[in-house]
Amino acid sequence: MIREITAKSMLHYHERTFSTNWDANIYRGCEHNCRYCFAQYSHRYLETENSLETSFFKDIFVKTNASQILAEEFGKRKWKKLPVNVCGISDCYQPAEAKYKIMPSVFNSFIMHKNPLVIVTKSTLVLRDIELIKELNKVTDVLVIISVSTLNEKKRKLLEPNAASTIERLKMLREFKNIGCNTSVLLMPIIPFLTDDQENLDEIFRITKEYDLGSIEAWPLHLHGKSKGVFYSFLQKHYPELLSKYRLLYNKGSVSKEYHADLQNRIRELKKKYSLFSSYKPTKPKTEEWVQPILFD
Ligand code: SF4
Repeated sequence: MIREITAKSMLHYHERTFSTNWDANIYRGCEHNCRYCFAQYSHRYLETENSLETSFFKDIFVKTNASQILAEEFGKRKWKKLPVNVCGISDCYQPAEAKYKIMPSVFNSFIMHKNPLVIVTKSTLVLRDIELIKELNKVTDVLVIISVSTLNEKKRKLLEPNAASTIERLKMLREFKNIGCNTSVLLMPIIPFLTDDQENLDEIFRITKEYDLGSIEAWPLHLHGKSKGVFYSFLQKHYPELLSKYRLLYNKGSVSKEYHADLQNRIRELKKKYSLFSSYKPTKPKTEEWVQPILFD
């Protein structure tokens, strides 16, 4: 069920720098239904606010006044035009966006205030708004990121049932590269025993290089709280033979030190092989300090 809500504020600071420290979540909950989704914890707070039991993947909240509130916040004297990620804990190009069409008005607020933008998506619906993003990219920095796990479509459909195929995402990112946006690939999460084979990792690196997508970062799956239960149920249904291996590997919520070290070595070698790096280079000079948290009036 999709519920329309009005937001009181949009810009949220978080300690963890993930391209930026600022999020503005247009949607809460995500229909992409990735079986490993890290963001499921975020619905707990909505349940408290609304006294409802909600499903992260089925009960989607859409902030219908997002662009208006963003424009007001961007206009505040103390706001320093820091980059804002519009897909922090939910994908702003999930299927609901095809109906609600909130993102064009959100981009108009960014354009009006020349505010740098970060988009992280697993959907090709973002191409619908490429002209607006191109316009914004003329006046400030735009970084478009895709996250991908596997080129094996059979596994991808099980793991990320409502997202675009991995190759479609990579091709979509190339279009944003071609119009001059900064682009980056998150090879994330790498899922032990399912997507961590050398052939898959190498091929994603190879295409990233061939399409000239700039930078790539890779990280293994973390399993905490609700995400762990949902992922283990997924394994039980589709890969029951892996459950005991996972219990050994994830006895602390993250992969074992040995697995992590081995994977990081392999990623380092792939980065060397394809001359790819972890961080992107902004195409426009930074006119403001980008990393300090800003307090509103
Ligand atoms: S696209 Fe991102 S937020 Fe949406 S379900 Fe997948 S991992 Fe979660």
